[in-house]
Amino acid sequence: MTRITSFADGTSVPVLGQGTWEIGDDPATRDSEMAALSRGIDLGLTLIDTAELYGNGKSERLVGEVIAGRRDEVFLVSKVKPENASEMKMMLSCEKSLERLGTDRLDLYLLHWEGRVPLEETVAAFEELVDEGMITRWGVSNLDMKAMRRLDAIEGGEHCAANQLLYHLGSRGIEFDLLPWMQSRDMPMMAYSPLGRGGLLEHPVINAIADRHDASPAQIALAAILRQDGIIAIPKASSVAHVEANAEALEIQFDAEDHAELDRAFPPPTSEQPLDII
Ligand code: NDP
Repeated sequence: MTRITSFADGTSVPVLGQGTWEIGDDPATRDSEMAALSRGIDLGLTLIDTAELYGNGKSERLVGEVIAGRRDEVFLVSKVKPENASEMKMMLSCEKSLERLGTDRLDLYLLHWEGRVPLEETVAAFEELVDEGMITRWGVSNLDMKAMRRLDAIEGGEHCAANQLLYHLGSRGIEFDLLPWMQSRDMPMMAYSPLGRGGLLEHPVINAIADRHDASPAQIALAAILRQDGIIAIPKASSVAHVEANAEALEIQFDAEDHAELDRAFPPPTSEQPLDII
């Protein structure tokens, strides 16, 4: 099953992608990680998220090996470190990412988080990369509601295509204001650490719902955050078994009792919350 969401420019992507933080770090698990990513692409989890930061380029290199010969099947996302998000440095960072990934373009390039470089300068640098054809679109990560309003007021800021944010059942604060604001602009929200880095999987309510659906806790956690439109979840899996299980999360249909139970155990926000980040 493939479920899609769309960017404001009409490009569609699957709502379930693949994260790669800590992938490529350990030579002993490399084969398994590569097999998992590759199997994920076969299963339609074709959006792959990486960053120059991850393993200091090791994650991008491993992704490059996985997508060699199948670049066009993949929607490729990478991120620039805040200290490289300037007009002076961003182009070189992007060139190095492209080289490690073995490609000539990124489908989406994100500012990993806001640092000292003014957003105005970062936007100008992103726009230059678009003009050069090195990236198709750009976005941000870890920007809260106030920062998104600042960005939106900058010339070119309206081209921001996505915001990647911490979002899982135990961290629902963005549902109060930021997520609806993004949804109203057709700006997909990329949910990072959607399994709470594995920490959600022991939760008794998630386990009880998993038992009722003959599913695993990870599948319930993923299906739960994909209940709303405009969300792309990017779980990291380093084995074929995990990625196959994650792909099946798209089959899960919750009933009213499931929704109520999830919301009792993990209440949605009733007021503005400070942004959770890792
Ligand atoms: P996740 O919430 O995706 O959790 C990953 C953990 O869940 C791993 O231990 C993994 O184990 C385990 N897991 C995956 N699938 C299953 C399954 N089916 N059953 C049981 N366990 C499972 O954590 P991440 O922090 O990695 O977040 C996902 C991605 O989001 C990152 O990889 C990265 O791409 C992005 N990210 C972005 C950030 C940002 O600042 N923009 C910050 C943090 C993450 P195993 O590895 O053994 O499969």
